[in-house]
Amino acid sequence: MPPGPAVAPQPRKRLATVWLDGCSGCHMSFLDLDERLLAVAQLADLVYSPLVDVKDYPEGVDVCLVEGAVSTQDDLERIRRVRARTRTLVSFGDCAVTTNVSGMRNPIGIQAIIDRAYVENTTLGRPVPSQIVPRHLPKALPVHKVVDVDVFLPGCPPSADLIHATLVDLLTGSDPAPARGRFGL
Ligand code: SF4
Repeated sequence: MPPGPAVAPQPRKRLATVWLDGCSGCHMSFLDLDERLLAVAQLADLVYSPLVDVKDYPEGVDVCLVEGAVSTQDDLERIRRVRARTRTLVSFGDCAVTTNVSGMRNPIGIQAIIDRAYVENTTLGRPVPSQIVPRHLPKALPVHKVVDVDVFLPGCPPSADLIHATLVDLLTGSDPAPARGRFGL
């Protein structure tokens, strides 16, 4: 029998993950994919992440998972750069989707939080640091309030099963099933 037409290999996708104002629990849940990480690695290269040593967010990212709320001027500049260089941006976990834990400061006000952390609860009498600590926005914001979001992946953290199913859909060109996650789980 003559061989059938050659099937062109699928180009590998470029995957990234970003850590804004979150506890890194969503990234820990990503690592909970365990051996399924090998299957994800068959579909994509991890081109930027706290899990790899790449300093600058590259151009031409296909899929990016963004953990955490937008809480500082630094977060704001990063998420705008990420959005400009990413085809499908995923709001990854409840802090990204709703601000969740990161937004607990919003009703209190940032100055009261800084005073509590750096003045009232200390014994050395040093001033509030003016370097290294990033400049806070007045309120923590969910990612979609700052840039367009393509996919919402709720959960605190999202389960490894949910992350895996969503990633496989996105990396194989399928639409991820809507409302597969639930807040707080
Ligand atoms: Fe941590 Fe939960 Fe926020 Fe993820 S959603 S960064 S696990 S607090």
